[in-house]
Amino acid sequence: MSLLEASINELVTANHILAREGVVDSFGHISIRHPENPDHYLLSCSRAPECIKAEDIMEFKLDGEPVNPKGRDPYAERAIHGSIYEARPEVMSVVHNHSPNVIPFGVTGCTLKPLMHMAAGMGTDMPIWDSRTNFGDTTLLVTTMDMGRDLANMLHDHRAALMRGHGCVVVGKSVREVVFSSIYLEINAELQFKANTLGDITFLSDGEVEAILKRRGPYTFERAWERWCLRANRPYEAAPDHK
Ligand code: MN
Repeated sequence: MSLLEASINELVTANHILAREGVVDSFGHISIRHPENPDHYLLSCSRAPECIKAEDIMEFKLDGEPVNPKGRDPYAERAIHGSIYEARPEVMSVVHNHSPNVIPFGVTGCTLKPLMHMAAGMGTDMPIWDSRTNFGDTTLLVTTMDMGRDLANMLHDHRAALMRGHGCVVVGKSVREVVFSSIYLEINAELQFKANTLGDITFLSDGEVEAILKRRGPYTFERAWERWCLRANRPYEAAPDHK
């Protein structure tokens, strides 16, 4: 299997996992930077994540122009992905989702913060991007590179950002990392609702987050990925750095 084929295969699996774990439904998407050309990225055509097959994966330039569309219809919100790859050379994979427990934190004054060690990847100061601030009354969809770049600017060097009334973006250095962070962001949001009903929450400190992320290695993501592949009924392939 070529490097490109392996990346496409991993991206298809990631779509099925995110759907199975409730992070995406009929909407939401995950991309990967092209393994051989950092100025391009790979993202499915406009389709619900759990329906996606290898032939749905399209290649785009960072400005969102498809390289070889073959009649396929791209996602309206692909500007999210190109804008972040443009601004963040170290980012190799991006998830955009509407994961349900996360959304309330983008529309209230309640701050979403990590309260369990597995969710350290979200960081302790997640920014909130509000499309209305610079673009007024819109559909809230990120349909232009101007909007995408504005979102990437708000994300800055963080690992995730909320999008008011819409969802969030999560970024990482690999597909497995970004899937891991997206799933635990949703779990943490649900736990924060529950913990809030019991009393004041003690969140992770910046130092704890730093210590957790320092200890975390490919084995962390791999152990979760193998189980998630099983649950999503997708073949498990060990990551190149884990063989
Ligand atoms: Mn969206």
